[in-house]
Amino acid sequence: MFTSALIIDDSVTVREQIIRTLETFGLFSRYYEAEDGLEGFKKLLSSPVDIILCDLEMPRIDGFKFLSMLKSRPELQDVPVIILTGMEDRERKIKGLEQGASDYITKPFDPEELVARVKVHLKIKKLQDELKRSNELLLELSNTDHLTCLFNRRYMMEVLDKEVHRSSRKGGSLSLIMLDIDNFKKVNDEFGHLQGDAVLQMVALQLQKELRSYDYAARYGGEEFVVILPDSALKDTLLVADRIRLAVQETIFNEPLEKLRLTVSMGVACFSREHSPTVDAFIKLADDALYRAKANGRNRIEFHNPEGVTPPATATATTTGSSAAEQEPKTSR
Ligand code: GH3
Ligand code: MG
Ligand code: MG
Ligand code: MG
Repeated sequence: MFTSALIIDDSVTVREQIIRTLETFGLFSRYYEAEDGLEGFKKLLSSPVDIILCDLEMPRIDGFKFLSMLKSRPELQDVPVIILTGMEDRERKIKGLEQGASDYITKPFDPEELVARVKVHLKIKKLQDELKRSNELLLELSNTDHLTCLFNRRYMMEVLDKEVHRSSRKGGSLSLIMLDIDNFKKVNDEFGHLQGDAVLQMVALQLQKELRSYDYAARYGGEEFVVILPDSALKDTLLVADRIRLAVQETIFNEPLEKLRLTVSMGVACFSREHSPTVDAFIKLADDALYRAKANGRNRIEFHNPEGVTPPATATATTTGSSAAEQEPKTSR
């Protein structure tokens, strides 16, 4: 793997000695040099490195100032810094360690000690990087529905909570689509559960294709999906919903599902502090609209429409709005 070190020291002799020593042990494939903290910091921003060896006493930006500059950049927090100090610099060694250095080397340095210390810190860095990657993966897995790879319900609720708060604080549109596959039980009954699972995956794919990168598609449970669309007004959301509806309706499946004609029903709601003051109330508006879509014949979109929005032309055949006051049909999903 490509590894690199940054050596910051105002003495060109010290820099050369360090590089020569590390080269002898073949520790790095690339070396960067700087003669003070500022030059070192600039080099670091353009070329990330695996370890930094930094002198404390330098003109202009010294080692302490360099350490505090590093603190201001979260992405550089994990790079180990070994400070280079004089033999009698007890106070300064402690101060450097307190300011974020991982270790120190006393000048004039012993080559084998230098290499040993560098190796220890490279090993710690490698373990830290692996741990960070594992944690990121775990986090991703804990937010993901394993069958469809969409977000799961838990994460979707977390996002919705944040977006509802953002929208109530700052204004701006926030839309929600609840989607339920029509007569999905029949798919399972006719083709078996495994094929049913493949159909769920296909619907998830269609959803992802129609969405923007900052929308959130989640599997709400079973054959129900939710889409959160930040900064999307009702009219735009209805267009998106209709594209999804058409995409599913037009999907040609492979064998043994080639005769399957799948459709979905959707309920859409747009957040407003007046009609949906809480996350639960917001979900209920979209859910109620979905019930109406089922009751009114499936393969259609219904929406909560407190402001009397006219549905977009492409969606008129299948999209109708109704106010919250309207009776909720007694249909099960
Ligand atoms: P409607 O049009 O009213 O929504 O009818 P439906 O048949 O889609 O609804 P119903 O709620 O009666 O059936 C949903 C089915 O979804 C029942 C359940 O077995 C199936 N299901 C839920 N989760 C999964 C899953 O992970 N895989 C598969 N294959 N089927 C699932
Ligand atoms: Mg110096
Ligand atoms: Mg269904
Ligand atoms: Mg259902």
